Amino acid sequence: MNSSMIGKIEKAHRYAREPERIQLSQIEATFRGSHDDYTVRLNGPNWSCTCHTFESHAVGDTCSHVMAMQQILAPMLSTEAKYGAEAVAGAG
Ligand SMILES: [Zn+2]
Repeated sequence: MNSSMIGKIEKAHRYAREPERIQLSQIEATFRGSHDDYTVRLNGPNWSCTCHTFESHAVGDTCSHVMAMQQILAPMLSTEAKYGAEAVAGAG
């Protein structure tokens, strides 16, 4: 292995310990819930989920699948995506 490749690998290891360098803008994931599989999506600051809880609630409400994704990915999410665009606007 040449030295430039070793340098890249070392840098990648360093970056991998600094997830706050990464901001996710779009995600589509299959979430295995207790009863069924759901598709959870992030588009900019907006989350959606195909589960009944999310779809039956008013805009701004959320579900356990979205909340779990927000916790797992917290360092890589914008403030709006982390807490919900409405919560951020309301806090201002
Ligand atoms: Zn859900």
